[in-house]
Amino acid sequence: MAVEIVRSTCPHDCPSACALDVERLAPDRVGRVHGGRWNPYIDGVICAKVARYAERVHNPDRLTTPLLRDGPKGSGRFKRIGWDEALDRVAEAFAAARRRHGPQTLWPYNYAGTMGLVQRDGIQRFRALLGTSLQHDTFCTSLGNAGWAAGMGAHKWGVDPREMVDSDVVVLWGLNAVHTQVQTMGWVARARKARGAKLVVVDPYRNATAEKADLHLMLRPGTDAALACAVMHVLFRDGLADRAYLAASADDPEGLEAHLRDRTPAWAARITGLSVDEIETFARLYGGTRRAYLRIGYGFTRSRNGAAAMHAVTSLPAVSGAWAHRGGGALWSMSGLFPLDTSLITAAEHRDGTQRWLDMSRIGAILTGDEPDALAGGPPVTAMLIQNTNPMVTAPDSTRVARGFAREDLFVCVHDQILTETARMADVVLPATTFLEHDDLYKAGAHTVLQVGLQVIEPLAEARCNHDVLRALMARLEAPAHVANDMSARELVDETLRLSGLPPAREIRDGGGHDCAAGFDAHHFRKGFGHADGRFRFHGAWHGAQAAVMPDLPDHLETIEAVDADHPFRLVTAPARHFLNSSFNETPTSRAMERRPTVLVHPDDAARVGLTDGAPARLGNRRGIVTLRARLIPGLAPGTVVVESLWSAGAFPEGVGINALVGADPGPPNGGAVFHDTAVWLRPVAVGDAEVPAGADAAALELA
Ligand code: SF4
Repeated sequence: MAVEIVRSTCPHDCPSACALDVERLAPDRVGRVHGGRWNPYIDGVICAKVARYAERVHNPDRLTTPLLRDGPKGSGRFKRIGWDEALDRVAEAFAAARRRHGPQTLWPYNYAGTMGLVQRDGIQRFRALLGTSLQHDTFCTSLGNAGWAAGMGAHKWGVDPREMVDSDVVVLWGLNAVHTQVQTMGWVARARKARGAKLVVVDPYRNATAEKADLHLMLRPGTDAALACAVMHVLFRDGLADRAYLAASADDPEGLEAHLRDRTPAWAARITGLSVDEIETFARLYGGTRRAYLRIGYGFTRSRNGAAAMHAVTSLPAVSGAWAHRGGGALWSMSGLFPLDTSLITAAEHRDGTQRWLDMSRIGAILTGDEPDALAGGPPVTAMLIQNTNPMVTAPDSTRVARGFAREDLFVCVHDQILTETARMADVVLPATTFLEHDDLYKAGAHTVLQVGLQVIEPLAEARCNHDVLRALMARLEAPAHVANDMSARELVDETLRLSGLPPAREIRDGGGHDCAAGFDAHHFRKGFGHADGRFRFHGAWHGAQAAVMPDLPDHLETIEAVDADHPFRLVTAPARHFLNSSFNETPTSRAMERRPTVLVHPDDAARVGLTDGAPARLGNRRGIVTLRARLIPGLAPGTVVVESLWSAGAFPEGVGINALVGADPGPPNGGAVFHDTAVWLRPVAVGDAEVPAGADAAALELA
């Protein structure tokens, strides 16, 4: 068979939602994956880990048949069973749990292993129709969403990143684009070539993106709002604020200016660890042009003060007036742009109003019952269906999560592509398709093009897609009739598009996607921000259980996990280049490229605790301890340590991942995981030391 090129879309948890050209070598085999030039933002560029996707699809560790636990929980002992038996067993266990505790004892749990709307969100229909517990999605965007909406309002989109070619300054704030949004760097390069644009990177360590910056602001983690406030102070002080724009477009510029009067660069320098000179330089650079493009990342928002920080950062282009100009303004996510009617997929209107919402980040407390409020007044969770996620590694406070999954009275079904740490804790494991083996529909965070991915190759062995598994279980559990349950995934994609007034899937795919761009005025909010009065709100519109702790006007909140004598370091679990959350940490090439779990330490800090480059080190706090290798780099704010993540739990001698150190308390105002807000201690350790726990896997410590 000649090599065919088939268009598709990357399904991973990454804003780029890359257009792909996939080499189909045979009906069941793919070769290299290339970036599609048919999406002008992607323009042929994708990351290396997806370019070698064949390694993931044809991984010998893929699950091929349903499995039934045949040993103690977590032992990894399973026996093969057929699909009918597997689905019957799951349905019987769910029905028994429901009879005993009511439907909300079932917690269907999912996240972003695929971003396809049909295969990711169909589990919402399962929850709605069966009356199970609902899920508050807090891993990724809830803190950022709250901060964005506080100032910007309901419109979650921004300026097309291709406008960077018209920018004089590009600021990447909390965004390691080289690792996580590779196309951004191409647009920065174009901006530099076209207009000599300057690149500013705001990030706590000198990562691969910061190395390319004209100005790198290496601030302490959790101090971003202080920097933003000081920059706005300078804009007002030095006549760089656009007062006409402010008068026309914001709620209370005079109140903000008065509030910022003592948020000086010297004030921010004490909080951020930056010099006054660095802050002044950045402020003059940012305010010296109206064509300053702010590309906002997720990193700095995953902190107990992350929502406040987002509000402060989004206030910058309102003060400078950059929104009004080509090449100016900001982008955090385009995800609110796409005019899709997803009611068929989610059946959200079938929720009965009494179903409780469980916070996915608090899964440890929910499963162990350690914090009764986490159960929101409902019954214990005694049965789970898990799709597209590996909470044993990705959830915070993961030692507690593991304790929860070890409960003998908890029935767990995991539907996944490989035997993840979570699947090893399951009673029944079901083999899942990859995106190349099923149909779906994709929004994007970084661009404006709606894309589809239609099946490229046959499913591996007995693997089934999420949609088919959900339908089969709902039929067995006698869920109320719903039209989506009578459709194939492909029919559901097409019907969703038809309901949304959009062309059918094949037409979208063959036509290079459907561009949902709304025009210059909309993307620059020239017709108003997303509040009823159309004005940007410096007085933040905060909602949620902890709204009272939020600052009225943009400000630094001291709510981060503070260092103390016993925990003198702040840990950031930044994204590794060759992993994507826990995805790809199973592929040999990605593991080889990342080498081994490593903590980045400033040489002065290393000398203080007696660590040398390459030496085994232990990080810990009251939640847990992990052992990894130290790498000394000067490009860190002293007192900060970074672990690029997410390695599998088995890569650490203790058998837990880095999230064992991260707290699961909900960030204000409305919940959200605080993955980059952790106080830890750091110590040297040698293999054989008494500090290494009994049973530790020394081989993992020696990982080359
Ligand atoms: S992981 Fe991100 S950058 Fe890589 S191909 Fe997928 S969408 Fe593109």
